[in-house]
Amino acid sequence: MTYHTHSLFGFVFAVVIIKLLALFNVIDLSYLIEGSIFNGDLWKFYTAAIIGSLLPDIDHASSKAGRALWFISKPLKWFGIKHRGFTHSLLGFILFGFLTKELIDLNWISQLIWYGLLIGYVSHILADMLNVHGIPLFYPNDRKFKFHINITTGSWGEHLLFLVIFTVVTLIIAYERGYVNLNLNDLINSFS
Ligand SMILES: [Zn+2]
Repeated sequence: MTYHTHSLFGFVFAVVIIKLLALFNVIDLSYLIEGSIFNGDLWKFYTAAIIGSLLPDIDHASSKAGRALWFISKPLKWFGIKHRGFTHSLLGFILFGFLTKELIDLNWISQLIWYGLLIGYVSHILADMLNVHGIPLFYPNDRKFKFHINITTGSWGEHLLFLVIFTVVTLIIAYERGYVNLNLNDLINSFS
């Protein structure tokens, strides 16, 4: 997947999670949401999710994350960490969680941003499971996990996926902002 697809997927994944949490009242988000899922501090959360969605590719020196954080991606390469390996596994995710949690203790990031980074990271792993190569979810076990949709990076399949997610996110934003009214009764009334 290209970084465009990953960042868009990370954003949508974070929006959907917030929407589901709010819908099923899993945790009280009223202090955050203030009437809309695009208000308040939530933009910080979505931005963190986008950043998190790019980080697993730090194992690839020429990726967006690899170039920005070359001082991490280069040593990873020296240690023999291959692309779509350790950083794309459950173990990598847990380590990422522990390391970034330190940033909260250092007061560099808030708890909300930390959640955003984690959700973005998970979104990347899920998105790469759409890829033909799959990911070693239970690294160091080599077995590759994938959804058998078999998208190749940069292929028309990926562009199509990007377009579908882009349409979905545009509709969600338009609906949340009140630009689109999906009330069926109003629709029927407008024809009568
Ligand atoms: Zn990846």
